Amino acid sequence: MSRTTTVVGPEAAADVLGVIQAAFGARPPLDPPAPALLETLESVATALATDGGLLLTEDGVALGSLIFRREGDTLVLRRFGVVPTAQGSGVAGDLVRAAEEHALSLGITALRVVARVELPASVAFWDHNGFVQAGREGETLHMVKVFPIRLELPTPEAAHTFGQRLAALLRAGDLLILTGDLGAGKTTFTKGIGAGLQVRGEVTSPTFIIARVHPSLVGGPALVHADAYRLGSIDEIDDLDLEMTLAEAVTVVEWGAGLAEGLADDRLEIDIVRTLGDVSSVEDTDVRQVVVRPIGKRWLDTPWHTLT
Ligand code: ADP
Ligand code: MG
Repeated sequence: MSRTTTVVGPEAAADVLGVIQAAFGARPPLDPPAPALLETLESVATALATDGGLLLTEDGVALGSLIFRREGDTLVLRRFGVVPTAQGSGVAGDLVRAAEEHALSLGITALRVVARVELPASVAFWDHNGFVQAGREGETLHMVKVFPIRLELPTPEAAHTFGQRLAALLRAGDLLILTGDLGAGKTTFTKGIGAGLQVRGEVTSPTFIIARVHPSLVGGPALVHADAYRLGSIDEIDDLDLEMTLAEAVTVVEWGAGLAEGLADDRLEIDIVRTLGDVSSVEDTDVRQVVVRPIGKRWLDTPWHTLT
């Protein structure tokens, strides 16, 4: 058996319409009904001619498909369907992965789908694939997945500048969780955030003080900088009382992975990695790779392109 997923245009309208009718026709009736069942050959061909779609076939038989619609930096997945006979065979997951690949090749920063509240299995599927609920209209949920942002930081100055640029996108209530080995550049990056937010006091590697508040000099949010390196448990992170200042400040937790996630549903998880990995290197400068993972709907309309 050979399974292939192809980016298609209007030439595939008949196959895509066939999948839509089989997939949506097999669902329990919904109120209001799914508009997918009103699609025609013409409407599908027109939609495919605009932004294309995906068709998954096995030995030439169409098993699943979707239609793309581009809205700015977001790619909307419409009419996502798997024929009833192929359900549970991984077709849906293959379609999502192919959609992500296509989106990345277009420089898209987020995917969006709609799911029906009455179909909890479908909501759970998107959730499992990293989509979060971003809004609700009646029985319709909008679910969104924002892609990780990857950057190279060739020098400590680049790490600082990255922090400064990111600060311009932050506001009170934001939580950043930093991961990376000792010396990766977490504090260097946080200094950049402090500079960008224009806060008082030098951002340093906390030694005995494990959480420090830097008030704003310009009427903006404070920077709360915590270092969880010496903390062993969630209870100890509770003792830092980060919750007290969370809403009014930008909170940055070094070594917070596995400890600080519970503080906020919306957060940025940032990994900094020394790629050369040679710890004995005498050079003061070597390249870091950074990955920013936006979690939650807070980050939907963030102009990430300003980071580069
Ligand atoms: P951490 O807080 O992750 O333990 P620090 O920011 O305190 O790390 O230290 C990072 C050290 O590595 C600093 O001395 C910095 O000058 C140096 N460095 C070298 N190259 C880079 C780079 N590309 N990005 C960030 N820091 C770098
Ligand atoms: Mg540090």
